[in-house]
Amino acid sequence: MSGGVEGADVVVVNTCGFIEMAKEESIEAILEAVRLKEEGRTRAVVAMGCLVQRYGEELAAELPEVDLFLGLAEADRLVPELRARGLLDSPAAFVPTMERPLRVLSTATPHTSFLKISEGCDHGCAFCAIPLMRGKHRSTPIEALVREARELEAAGVVELNLVSQDTTWYGRDWLRTGIPAGSEEAYFMGRPFAGMAGAVGAPGLARVADRAEAAPTRAESVGRAGASLEPSRHGALPALLRALLDRTEIPWLRLFYMYPSGIHRGLVELIAAEARILSYLDMPIQHGADAVLKRMRRPERQATIRQRVRWLREAIPELVLRTTVIVGFPGETDEDFEALLELLEELRFDRVGAFAYSVEEGTPAATMPDRVPDPVKRERMERLLDVQRAVALERNEAWVGREVDVLVDRAADEDGVAVGRTVGQAHEVDGVVYLEGAAEARPGRFVRARIGGAEEDDLTGVIVGDA
Ligand code: SF4
Repeated sequence: MSGGVEGADVVVVNTCGFIEMAKEESIEAILEAVRLKEEGRTRAVVAMGCLVQRYGEELAAELPEVDLFLGLAEADRLVPELRARGLLDSPAAFVPTMERPLRVLSTATPHTSFLKISEGCDHGCAFCAIPLMRGKHRSTPIEALVREARELEAAGVVELNLVSQDTTWYGRDWLRTGIPAGSEEAYFMGRPFAGMAGAVGAPGLARVADRAEAAPTRAESVGRAGASLEPSRHGALPALLRALLDRTEIPWLRLFYMYPSGIHRGLVELIAAEARILSYLDMPIQHGADAVLKRMRRPERQATIRQRVRWLREAIPELVLRTTVIVGFPGETDEDFEALLELLEELRFDRVGAFAYSVEEGTPAATMPDRVPDPVKRERMERLLDVQRAVALERNEAWVGREVDVLVDRAADEDGVAVGRTVGQAHEVDGVVYLEGAAEARPGRFVRARIGGAEEDDLTGVIVGDA
């Protein structure tokens, strides 16, 4: 936990329950907050989020020192509960930003922010517990997102990172349910909804991934969704992007969690045509062997992945592609793993996030046979990382000698070296550019830089002018 919580009246820990590692980190953060309370450095500790949604009762039994546990479906209770316990000193100034959960900007990099465009997930990937915790997909209305983006822009944000569970799925729920009218408050987190563990009438894990390619196509569904937003069977992501382009001037819009099968030609053309939608895409593939993808209950196969990469690279030659893969899924054979390595070598993603499979309680994969032993997983991870290191270095070296726009994240240190990022480097997940002789560089500003050196993750460069 960072020193930023020192002196806080209440420490609110937002937990994650995605994978084992995240669960452990969340528990560690709660324990650290409890230590602060025991030392008298904070008055109360609240634990919220996914982990609490799933394991609230167990956590409450194990951690009685925590004052309040609130699952995802109870986030609305935070302010009233704090107020009732006399923990809000100046409620008038404080409450509005908590009751309508505006994003809290990082104090170190307030010029970059996430924009969460939807909540929940309609897929049913066999390894994933997210739909159990967060319920079915619900898209936040475009108006609400534009308003949030404009508020963030007014606060100085110049890079907006669009996130969700599957960003390509944005608006597809409206084909099923109709566009919500005037009910946007219901879409903010903090209220239960279908599919979420603990929600009234929760039907459990949604399994519509197999229907992903066959989303509703009937004209009347589209008509019901409203012509002004131009939704199609592909959803409303293009309409959202157009609205953000037209009604904000935020220069960098970055797309995360773009599922391969959800990427369609119209979207590719839009990204290619609009410089403000960055030539950067995070496209999780999870594996490269058809047999494993099928057992993972992913809608894509190798052919789909290859086709989407081809469409994207043909239309956007400068594209930087990031992906995520899981190593050691139950039943992964040596041949499956080789197929994954071959696909990564063939497609040459600029960046790959690799995770060793971990069993997540309540998911279909948790009871699958043929678990891959940990030493085999580790060995495969090492091999994969070796392969990807070479690819990443080669991809990064291609930038050497070129002039590019760089967003400065950190002012120069005593050696005159500032830190920034190119279009191809997302905040906190990718590498950075070290800008030498950059005493004048100011965080949140764009500069033009010539790239002089490359490593697997990071670049070095010198400023040659304003962007
Ligand atoms: S798409 Fe799959 S991995 Fe992603 S949140 Fe949904 S179920 Fe989980």
